[in-house]
Amino acid sequence: MIMQEKEAPVSGNFYEFDEEYRNTLATVDAEGKRVWLYPKKPNGSLYTGRTLASIILLALLFSGPLVHIQGRPFFLFNFFERKFILFGQMFWPQDFFLLALTLITFFVFVILFTVAFGRIWCGWACPQTLFMEMVFRRIEYWIEGDANNQRRLDRLPWDSGKIFKKSAKHIVFLLISILIAHTCMAYLIGVDEVLKIVSQSPAKHWGGFLGLTTFTLIFYGVFAHFREQACVVVCPYGRLQSVLLVKDSIVVMYDWLRGEPRGRLKKEQKTETKGDCIDCKLCVHVCPTGIDIRHGTQLECVNCTACIDACDDVMTKIHKPKGLIRYSSHSAIKEGKQKLFTPRIAGYIVVLSALIIVLCYLVFTRQDIEMTVLKVPGTLYSRTDDGQITNMYNIEFVNKTFDEVPLELKIEVPASASLLRVGGPDIIVPKEGILKGLYMIKMPPGEVRSMKMTVDLGVYQQGKKIISTKARFIGPLGNQQGGSETEKKDNH
Ligand code: SF4
Ligand code: SF4
Repeated sequence: MIMQEKEAPVSGNFYEFDEEYRNTLATVDAEGKRVWLYPKKPNGSLYTGRTLASIILLALLFSGPLVHIQGRPFFLFNFFERKFILFGQMFWPQDFFLLALTLITFFVFVILFTVAFGRIWCGWACPQTLFMEMVFRRIEYWIEGDANNQRRLDRLPWDSGKIFKKSAKHIVFLLISILIAHTCMAYLIGVDEVLKIVSQSPAKHWGGFLGLTTFTLIFYGVFAHFREQACVVVCPYGRLQSVLLVKDSIVVMYDWLRGEPRGRLKKEQKTETKGDCIDCKLCVHVCPTGIDIRHGTQLECVNCTACIDACDDVMTKIHKPKGLIRYSSHSAIKEGKQKLFTPRIAGYIVVLSALIIVLCYLVFTRQDIEMTVLKVPGTLYSRTDDGQITNMYNIEFVNKTFDEVPLELKIEVPASASLLRVGGPDIIVPKEGILKGLYMIKMPPGEVRSMKMTVDLGVYQQGKKIISTKARFIGPLGNQQGGSETEKKDNH
């Protein structure tokens, strides 16, 4: 955490020396029990901006599984069948290295972004914040009223009015949780499968039905009860913040030079003797994680900007310039200069650029058809009646496209070798599927010049070679001298 330093050029104010807040959590009381937060409804230009951004992002999120291109989903993360579609492109477990590299690239991007712009993601784009602050919290304000009304309602005995409001709120919460659960499931198994599950008896789809129920309960539990604890206690990104942020990172910041010494605004008092902060605590009351941003950047701050809006409103009312709390950095406030392009950022940009280049190269040169050649386990070679040496292979073709692909497999070198597929010569790899086959490579004995040879294979699609590979061919010991052979029998 970056804190205002003790030598900050302000004096005699409590926050320079009182670091007691570090020993407590705003959401836990002295006995270790959860303190329920009642954040005041934010209002202001940033809140309006976040509302618009969340409408767009939520629309994209909910429509994602519905988007199909040529009958195929645009996104699918089917972990159960190990099938992944990203931007209409199919990825298989064979492409796992691409997934790993994508994750590493994403991780470096997150580091770079966080070092430069702090937790903008949390406040503006994280699904947890979007749903919590822009959907569930708004419904709560709509049904139960603003923070004070909610507090009052919770203290009231359970009369009909309270029962009505609480039930209405939780029924709406549950319905939205059901919608989110179905959307998540559609990303995992596809929207058609989800429609099947919801339109048929649960007995026919026990797995899917249990999955949807579990998702619904998790989302309901998180947004109705767990709430800010997901960001404060569970989210690893919040923890990363303390090691990633530097003094030049742009985060939601309180301008302590301008604000301190803080003090209540009294008519008889000359405000010039004080800083601009009138200690109204509105920035604390609107905070969804219950912290006081005036202590400095803290792990719990999700950069939601509610405190900026609240403080700007106060500043307008007391005829002071806006921006006492604003997007800024520790250096910008303390030294008056903002450095965005630092050596650390430059280093991250270089690493990120290199990763993106490698990733793009691998993605664009990725083959739609893959082939694996393995000798049948436990076999060496055998000899046919006419004296030819044979080896057996398991050959597997993976078709990553959405169409059936007819292929031709040929031996390129040595030309005298021949190939035979057990079960017929035709190779038609099903769409999004795998074709396995048992193959025999036959070689005239005169061609077998060593115990271990390689055979060059070529895979052709519509007459065009798409894959070249090699297969190991084992011959008899001593065949090259025409001497005695130690022939092994195949086990197959
Ligand atoms: S809202 Fe602004 S003026 Fe009020 S306590 Fe917070 S920082 Fe001070
Ligand atoms: S301190 Fe401000 S920006 Fe941070 S979570 Fe609280 S209200 Fe949001």
